[in-house]
Amino acid sequence: MFVSENLSVNEKGHLAVSGVDTVDLAAQYGTPLYVMDEEVIRSACRRFKKSIDSFYGGAGLVCYASKAFCCREMCRIMKDEGIGLDVVSGGELYTAASVDFPMENICFHGNNKTDEELTLALEKKVGRIIVDNIFELERLNALAEKAGVTANIMYRIKPGIDAHTHNFIRTGQIDSKFGFALETGEAFEAVKKAIELKNINLAGLHCHIGSQIFDIDPFVHAAEVMLGFIAKIKNELGFEVKQLNLGGGFGIKYTNSDNPAPFENYMEKVSVKVKEVCEKENISLPFIIIEPGRSIAAPAGLTLYTVGGIKNIPNIRTYVSIDGGMCDNPRYALYKSEYDIEVANKAGEPKTESITLAGKCCESGDLIGENMPVQHIEVGDTVAVLATGAYNYSMSSNYNRIPKPAVVMVKDGSSRVVVKRETMEDIIRNDL
Ligand SMILES: *Cc1c(COP(=O)(O)O)cnc(C)c1O
Repeated sequence: MFVSENLSVNEKGHLAVSGVDTVDLAAQYGTPLYVMDEEVIRSACRRFKKSIDSFYGGAGLVCYASKAFCCREMCRIMKDEGIGLDVVSGGELYTAASVDFPMENICFHGNNKTDEELTLALEKKVGRIIVDNIFELERLNALAEKAGVTANIMYRIKPGIDAHTHNFIRTGQIDSKFGFALETGEAFEAVKKAIELKNINLAGLHCHIGSQIFDIDPFVHAAEVMLGFIAKIKNELGFEVKQLNLGGGFGIKYTNSDNPAPFENYMEKVSVKVKEVCEKENISLPFIIIEPGRSIAAPAGLTLYTVGGIKNIPNIRTYVSIDGGMCDNPRYALYKSEYDIEVANKAGEPKTESITLAGKCCESGDLIGENMPVQHIEVGDTVAVLATGAYNYSMSSNYNRIPKPAVVMVKDGSSRVVVKRETMEDIIRNDL
């Protein structure tokens, strides 16, 4: 019935997260409130890790794409689960470092890392810096030389895969700001250059073909293209690329019409192709890295809001206004992303209404969704937006000077704050 398996209706008819009453959470911590279920996060980590063990004999690493949801507690959980991290900024790297995250298990991404960020990565001895372009390569080589170290890098490659997903989240095709193009020979020239540079060690290649992908084929095809390139490098340059990072992008269930394959299926099909190409091309099986983000964080989360007003515009629509909006969840405004909602205090009742869930920001596009089926909804109700664990808190802003909500983690029937609610004092903290 619900998009995430940890959700249920309790004896009061309230929505519960792993047995914890969401109406109680709203009363205890206030709304808006992000709620994360620790067990859902941990079990996704274990499943990904297990799939590396079963399909690659353990010769690989799962790196959680922390941009999906990054805070110190999330980094601690990943460290505890033996999962690596994918970071895309100095800020994410700093967050990881603040909990003594093992730096050798970090992949540092980004299409325009600053000298300060690259220097921080070298200082912290980040395991792999994913180089996006030739300018970055040259800057990194110079910075590494100055620091007297060798930078361990992977190249971000555009394998030319058109994954069937929202246009804004397609990144594997040639018209993308990310990475080196294969088709044009740009990537091959860059590999030659990296091999020549003294303070660069080309540890491997990386690709990430997009997000919220439901088809298995694009992943299999991307792996095939990348291994073909590794074979070409071996044959023509005599250089062995030892690691292959296949990125993330596994789709999750946001609404009941989404039907993603279990990620074990992707992992298995991809591993079969990887082994097949390695055998055919006579190259050794590379160390495999995967970078799931959304699929670890999204199903674990939900957001609670309080309804403040309802406007019924006859024959047009009903606007239900909540105490958050695009400032804590900009995904509908950005991508027209769909979500399931529940009236948390009436979760046991049938959905008889269809509403537009509107935020409180001064922006007509500030909606969480339109045509959303929901229970009979009234002012004062608690609304739960489901599967908001990824790209909500991490994309939140202070638009309209609205403080960011707290994040509460639920585990074993109890709850704790892992990110404090911002205060008005936080809002003016940096103002002079
Ligand atoms: C965003 C991103 C991911 C994670 O994508 P999800 O869709 O959240 O799994 C992994 N790798 C890279 C390089 C990314 O940019």
